[in-house]
Amino acid sequence: MVVVDNCCHVRGAIVKVFPNTRVVLDVWHFLMRYLACVIGGSKNPVRSAVGRDIVEAILKTSADKQNPAVYWNQEEQEVHIVAAYEKWARNGGVWNAAAEKVHADQLAHVQKGCLARLRQDVHPRKPYRRLAQALERTSAILCKQT
Ligand SMILES: [Zn+2]
Repeated sequence: MVVVDNCCHVRGAIVKVFPNTRVVLDVWHFLMRYLACVIGGSKNPVRSAVGRDIVEAILKTSADKQNPAVYWNQEEQEVHIVAAYEKWARNGGVWNAAAEKVHADQLAHVQKGCLARLRQDVHPRKPYRRLAQALERTSAILCKQT
């Protein structure tokens, strides 16, 4: 799996080289595109609440030191992101003129599954630890045999 900023743009090129790879969009870039549409930017008092709603539309729980992030499935993400966008559209004073198009674009990524994960994110260090353990076991067996 490859996590990128511009998933649908680079997917073709990546899949050509690594055919079995899923190319997906990372949540941070997704969030930034929405936050760029908040009127007044960081001066807007509800900006952080908007950001929280966007992230929570995609993630069931965020990653922390011990645990990887848990993602909603694609259908749930779609329902949540539409609800979050409309909630702040009703509120007024949040979305600028560009927001509607940005939302439509991001929604298309959500619908294509660019934000969903088949497998929940693996904690960054765990796979290496497991690989190291497997190598240790293998070399232990090889050493016994010789
Ligand atoms: Zn995409």
